[in-house]
Amino acid sequence: MDQELCNQGRYHSLMPFKLTNAILPLCLTILLMGVGAPGQAVELPDLGDVSRVTLSEARESAIGREVMRQIRQERAFLDDPEINDYLNRLGDRLAASQSNPGYSFQFFAVSDPSINAFALPGGFIGVHTGLIAAARNESELAGVLAHEMAHVTQNHIARMVDGQRGRAWQTLAALAVALLAARSDQGELGQAAVVTAQALGMQNQLDFTREHEKEADRVGLRILSDASFDPGGMASFFERLQAQGRHYDHAAPAYLRTHPLTHERIADIQDRLSGLTKRPGRDESLDFRLVQAKVNALSGDPESAQRRFQADLQQRPDDVATRYGLAAAALRAGNNDQIRTGLAALPDPAPSYMVDALAARLMFTMGNYPGGLKRLQEAMRRHGETLPLVDAYARGAILAGQPAQARQRLTDALRVWPGEVALLDRLSEANFALGRQAEGHLIKAEALYGRDLVAAALEQLDLARKAGDGDYYTLSIVDARMRAWRQSLPPVTEAKVSR
Ligand SMILES: [Zn+2]
Repeated sequence: MDQELCNQGRYHSLMPFKLTNAILPLCLTILLMGVGAPGQAVELPDLGDVSRVTLSEARESAIGREVMRQIRQERAFLDDPEINDYLNRLGDRLAASQSNPGYSFQFFAVSDPSINAFALPGGFIGVHTGLIAAARNESELAGVLAHEMAHVTQNHIARMVDGQRGRAWQTLAALAVALLAARSDQGELGQAAVVTAQALGMQNQLDFTREHEKEADRVGLRILSDASFDPGGMASFFERLQAQGRHYDHAAPAYLRTHPLTHERIADIQDRLSGLTKRPGRDESLDFRLVQAKVNALSGDPESAQRRFQADLQQRPDDVATRYGLAAAALRAGNNDQIRTGLAALPDPAPSYMVDALAARLMFTMGNYPGGLKRLQEAMRRHGETLPLVDAYARGAILAGQPAQARQRLTDALRVWPGEVALLDRLSEANFALGRQAEGHLIKAEALYGRDLVAAALEQLDLARKAGDGDYYTLSIVDARMRAWRQSLPPVTEAKVSR
């Protein structure tokens, strides 16, 4: 089976597509056979009242969150604080330029070498690492993000579902089927379901998204230009993709398959470009190049990544991004000598907080906790508190045997970023390190609930009750959460809990 097609099916089938009544039961059967392996619970997403034809904003958001819940458990979900922080800062900059603040976006990285990005219902936008690596400058990457954001702001997903009348629920069920089958990741049955669903989806999707694509280009260009990126970035990237596409017969770049490009579309973009002012000078931030270096350091085996960066360093000995890439690859390789060399290559003081975060991580790996903590503290003074810096600091403090300090810092940070699950995870860890079992379980429960893992969150609340060291205040929060969260539990998951 074509491995690339399967990998892509996992994500590209997220856009709703039509599925006939005859196919649906077949896919459901495949799902139950393929996913329901012994000991593995089948959790069908709760799609709510499936008889409704229109997709309300609330429903769209609920579907998006459900899909995200599944994606977070995928191996391909790249849980890298710096890369995700960068994508969200870039996205915030694009969104901030818009007069309609009614949409919230959340960007996340997917570890996949194919060039692709996709929008999910509810404003979640996935970005393949292959896309980050292939962009020649920040405006090109921003151009693709702006195009995806436009699919969201123009309600294309809801409009597609609406366009199918009466079939909306099959569409959503098919979406869930493809997802779960892909997630099972365990054999031909699951993959067959994805491929079938995807083939059907592609065929039907191409017919009625051409107008959406043009609209996404038009709105995306405006977003790009309003945020002071070079709008030419969108055109140059699409042109390159199209040129590449000619060399592939059956395996066109993923982005072309999900967002069909035509000469007409490119000509349209070119036309509009002439009416926009070109704003040079902002199209390559250092952080973009650092993120790109990190993505390259994470791909392939760490030794060959190191060799690539070492060769680049011969050409550009002072290039911060190349040095950063070398150090990131060294951290992956895990050899102490190489880590020391990688650390020595990083500038101090650093021009970006990302460099400090990596330096501190290298120091922690070598057991130099005071050095790493000092570096992070200086970075926060110089560059301001970012989420990855606070998280790295707390992690270092716990490792250094100072969990009380970590707990204080995290409690303060949660006032700035309320409900941030990465901070909650760390705070729970700090509490366990302090021997505060009930509080540790309560906060772990909050972190799980924030990821929509309701059943697992309830299990943690139960453990908090049983821990025996909870004070009155903690236990009353546990009880209140227990009552509230039980009501939000979908029926299938409920059965699992009461077992
Ligand atoms: Zn598109």
